[in-house]
Amino acid sequence: MLTVSDPDAPLHAVLEDLRKHLLWQQASGGASLLVARSSAAPAPRPSAFSLRPAAAARELPSPLPGPAARVARLPELEVRLAVTEVQQARPTLDEVRQELGDCQRCKLCTGRKNIVFGAGSPRAKLVFVGEGPGETEDLQGVPFVGKAGDLLTKMIEAMGFPRDEVYICNVVKCRPPGNRNPEPDEIAACEPFLRAQLRSLEPQVIVALGKFAAQTLLRDTTAITRLRGQWREYQGVQLMPTFHPAYLLRNPAEKRHAWADLQQVMKVFGKGPQGG
Ligand code: URA
Repeated sequence: MLTVSDPDAPLHAVLEDLRKHLLWQQASGGASLLVARSSAAPAPRPSAFSLRPAAAARELPSPLPGPAARVARLPELEVRLAVTEVQQARPTLDEVRQELGDCQRCKLCTGRKNIVFGAGSPRAKLVFVGEGPGETEDLQGVPFVGKAGDLLTKMIEAMGFPRDEVYICNVVKCRPPGNRNPEPDEIAACEPFLRAQLRSLEPQVIVALGKFAAQTLLRDTTAITRLRGQWREYQGVQLMPTFHPAYLLRNPAEKRHAWADLQQVMKVFGKGPQGG
C-alpha cells in the first residue's frame, strides 16, 4: 500500500491511471502508448492492430535519468515505453494480413484451401462486407467470385463503381464446410481482423451484406429484414445493411429493396442510378 511518505506515490498514482486508461483504450481498439507488465509475466505477443510496440518500440535502457529511472526501478512494475505512431492505430492491410498469418485460430482452418482475406483498393471509400467464402472463393482465395459474387459485381458496377475501386471482404476468412453459416466461435476468432481491415481502410461507407455482416459489425441481433435500408454507424463510419447477394439469388423479388438501399449509398457519393 502506498503512503504519502512514499516519494514515488504521485508517480505510482499517475502510472496506474495511465495504465488503466491504456488498457481501456486497447480493449476498445485504440492504440497503446505504454505497456506495463509484471516482471514475472512473459511479454505479451505484439499484435499489429491493437497493441503493437513493434518496430518503432524501444525498450528504455536502465538506469535512466529523471522520473524514468524511478519508473524503471519500481519493483512491481516493469515499464516499457513504446513509441507508438498513428500507423499502429491504423494498420496497413498488409500488416493485418501478416498478423492473420497461416491462421489456426478456429476450426475453419482445417477445411480451407485458401484464406480469403479481402480484395480491392486499399484506398477504397466504399467497402462491402459479406459473410464468408464459398467454394469458388475458397479455391481462388478471392472474395465474391462465385455466383453471388457475379451478382455483387453487377450491383457494384450499377452503382457506378468499378469493382477494383471498392474493397470487399467477409466476416470469416475461411470457408465454412458445405457453406454452412459461420458459428459464433468462428466469428469471434475472425472479427478482430475484419475490424482491423476497416480501421485500415477508414472508408466513407460500409455496406453490410446480410445478417452476419450487419449483426456482427453493429452488435445488434435485429433481423436483416428490419435492419436493411436504415443508415447505421460503425465506429464513426456510415453503414448500410442490405440483403446478401446469395439471398437475392434465391429471392429475386427482394432485389428492388436491395437496390433501394444501394441507391441511398450512391447518394452519399453523388452518383445517380445506372441500372436496376
Ligand atoms: N458469400 C460471401 O458472403 N462471401 C463471399 O466471398 C462469397 C459468397
